[in-house]
Amino acid sequence: MQQKKILPSKLPYAGTTIFTVMSKLATDEGAYNLSQGFPSFDCSPKLSELVSHYVKNGYNQYAPMSGVPAFRESLAEKTSLIYGVNYDPETEVTITSGATEALFCAVTAVVYPGDEVIVLEPAYDSYVPAIDLNGGVPIFVTLDAPDFKIDWEAVKEKITDKTKAIMINTPHNPVGTVFSKADLDALANLIQNRDIYIISDEVYEHIVFDGEIHHSMMTHPQLQERTFVCGSVGKTYHTTGWKIGYCLAPKALTEEFRRIHQYITFSTVTPMQYALADFLKLPEHYLNLGEFYQKKRDRFNDALKASRFTFNPSKGSFFQIASFRNISEEYDYDLAVRLTKEIKVASVPVSVFYKEKKDDKLLRFCFAKDDEILDKAGEILSKL
Ligand code: GLN
Repeated sequence: MQQKKILPSKLPYAGTTIFTVMSKLATDEGAYNLSQGFPSFDCSPKLSELVSHYVKNGYNQYAPMSGVPAFRESLAEKTSLIYGVNYDPETEVTITSGATEALFCAVTAVVYPGDEVIVLEPAYDSYVPAIDLNGGVPIFVTLDAPDFKIDWEAVKEKITDKTKAIMINTPHNPVGTVFSKADLDALANLIQNRDIYIISDEVYEHIVFDGEIHHSMMTHPQLQERTFVCGSVGKTYHTTGWKIGYCLAPKALTEEFRRIHQYITFSTVTPMQYALADFLKLPEHYLNLGEFYQKKRDRFNDALKASRFTFNPSKGSFFQIASFRNISEEYDYDLAVRLTKEIKVASVPVSVFYKEKKDDKLLRFCFAKDDEILDKAGEILSKL
């Protein structure tokens, strides 16, 4: 009998993402799900009403390839208002199916086979597959616990003639750090006179704490002209399931970005874009987000303080990482699975954000959850 041919994988190292694995386990085990990053609460009723309005009124066909013009305009206005940077909605703003698509298109736009891309790890899980699928070579710079500061000298040492791009993520998932102005200056210095692009993942732009400021790459003129700023409305409006993201980039970069975007998804869900065009005009919904999540972070961390976990409070994103060195010597993945099964609290092991699965005995907890969930999970963890 002829042997069935097995399809060789372009991503042989990839299993199912940890977020799917842990969320499924949490559901199967009836555990409090502090693993996958999504809110347990709903979006604003006003936003749902707007979507209903546009669905009922026939805004249900393909949106323009680059996004609904009114939404692109609102986004450009908001960007100008908060960062003082003007992007032309016609040629420099593109709506995508989530930040994931924006990141993929940006990587595809710049990376050719053999090109090197600097990845600071721990890193969000979609970056490396996007680089690999384009024949690029990820070059890792490892950030170390507990503060995960970027050693820009170490980054500089990894730059070669083949370096094509650097992946940036601030506020950071999973470790909750944020870039300082000095980080932007260091990065700008590094790429000066070099043909290097920045792909900047800023999906948590509005979730920063303790008076920190989100320093977008676009606020630094030398960086702005070489950067694809990728964002998502999922985190800002509690609508992760809508998968609406965007890319802000100078015209020349956007042209290539759109060439790719048009053949990956062509366009993004229409009625939501109309609703968001209106909703973006209400700044209170994004300006108060840091305060909203800071209360949740503090509520959860107060419980953790009573435990044997140790941690530095997250400065941004809706994640808190905590060290379990005083609790267990297990591999972080095994512990995350065991805690989900035995004490019914699900988290994400931080080793999954490293290519070599570096185990610093850290778990990531998502605090975008209702207060009762945070209290109950916190109480259980505090007894560990
Ligand atoms: N970004 C989310 C997290 O870090 C998950 C997104 C996803 O499930 N792909 O948990």
